[in-house]
Amino acid sequence: MTKIPFDNSYVRLPDGFFVRRAPTPVAAPRLIRLNRALAANLGMDPDWLAGSAGVRMLAGNSVPEGAEPIATAYAGHQFGNFVPQLGDGRAVLLGEVVDRDGQRRDIQLKGAGPTPFSRRGDGRAALGPVLREYLVSEAMAALGIPTTRALAAVATGELVVRETRLPGAVLARVAASHIRVGTFQYFAARGDAEAVRTLADHALARHYPEASSAEHPYRALLDGVVARQAELVASWLLVGFVHGVMNTDNMSVAGETIDYGPCAFLDAYDPRTSFSSIDAHGRYAYGQQPGIALWNLTRLAEALLPLLADDEAAVEAAEALLAGFGPRFEKAYHDGLAHKLGLSADRDGAVALADDLLARMAENRADFTLTFRRLCDAAERPEADAGVRDLFVDPTEYDAWAVRWRKLLDEEGRTPAATASAMRAINPAFIPRNHHVEAMIAAAVEQGDFGPFEELLAVLSRPYDDQPAHACYAEAPEGGGADYRTFCGT
Ligand code: AMP
Ligand code: MG
Repeated sequence: MTKIPFDNSYVRLPDGFFVRRAPTPVAAPRLIRLNRALAANLGMDPDWLAGSAGVRMLAGNSVPEGAEPIATAYAGHQFGNFVPQLGDGRAVLLGEVVDRDGQRRDIQLKGAGPTPFSRRGDGRAALGPVLREYLVSEAMAALGIPTTRALAAVATGELVVRETRLPGAVLARVAASHIRVGTFQYFAARGDAEAVRTLADHALARHYPEASSAEHPYRALLDGVVARQAELVASWLLVGFVHGVMNTDNMSVAGETIDYGPCAFLDAYDPRTSFSSIDAHGRYAYGQQPGIALWNLTRLAEALLPLLADDEAAVEAAEALLAGFGPRFEKAYHDGLAHKLGLSADRDGAVALADDLLARMAENRADFTLTFRRLCDAAERPEADAGVRDLFVDPTEYDAWAVRWRKLLDEEGRTPAATASAMRAINPAFIPRNHHVEAMIAAAVEQGDFGPFEELLAVLSRPYDDQPAHACYAEAPEGGGADYRTFCGT
């Protein structure tokens, strides 16, 4: 009986796009967590998935009817250096389903064993990074940010060899697609113009159907990716998210956040923050992200060049489309900042006021998430200023700013309660705090205790609600968290 309504399209593309490869079975699959709501939305039966046949499938021990497992080919710029062949070295795409909202979605097993693209490495994933990706991607979804999703995490019963031996796991990841900027680069670098066109047609039909009927569909495709990435990166900045490894192979053409290796959220606000141990020069620091997104999109434009026009006209077209990134990013970011302060996007002085607050926060090592969340209270009752000013090394820096803020709030003419509730709907109380994520991973990996994972996941599924019983998860770490380090999710 077919349990999963597969409807695969990527595997219908030409041979060079992928290699057929079944997942490698694991010793002792055990379900850690199933995302039942997501499963139901994908047209899958959650009870079947949670049963032994479903868990075997989620671990890669059996291939379900209708699946056509493949490892996809892609290239990418890693920290600025072009690698002509990366590809899915430890992930297998089982196939696609059309979900209840009519959206086509990939079902991929990450950590499913070696593929012809595993250059070095075992094709496996360790439990810690799998739990991190599960938790953070679901937190991003709850925050309302486009992202790949986590369908399930399964323990393999095997150890993976890293610096030490670690328990292994497989993540079932769901994505609009796994087409990356690096997928286009893979074919462009080989001079395979026909494959670039085929991929562009596929991406157009799948992610930008409205662009297919534009006068210049491939220009409309690039324009669409530019627009989605500009908005995506703005939404990251507005919640303090640092992706950590914005290589071109980790940038989705569909505009979803993908690849949660060394990602982390800001505690104290400082745009130079970079957490990743391998990002020594801060290439992918918080404040660098818009510029890096544009750099990556420029690589996409180069790959698409032959499709945009002939010769010089193509470069001109590409430059014009890339020039759309800045204004789109600025608008999304500035509108978002104004809203975070309870102000309309077109309120005169809102952007300057927001920039000034951020400068004072950086100077005073104020916690990013707590500052904005406590401003919601301050908008409602001026006595609550005390909670915000406490976050500043020099609290009078806040006081001076707040006088100007209140003047603009008055101009809005809303009731304090209405302002506060609008602000609470966009300024999260709960983000995946690094120190809690680490404690959750340590409990699971060292003690086999998944209680903290479950609890944190539940709290983060309602990030905009005050949850007094879980207030500890909203707290900032001692010392501002600047010395926190992350490692790539291998
Ligand atoms: P990532 O850091 O997940 O973006 O991966 C970058 C590249 O390294 C991709 O081609 C991955 O498939 C490959 N890779 C990462 N970890 C492993 C692993 N454990 N085994 C094989 N390949 C891997
Ligand atoms: Mg990757």
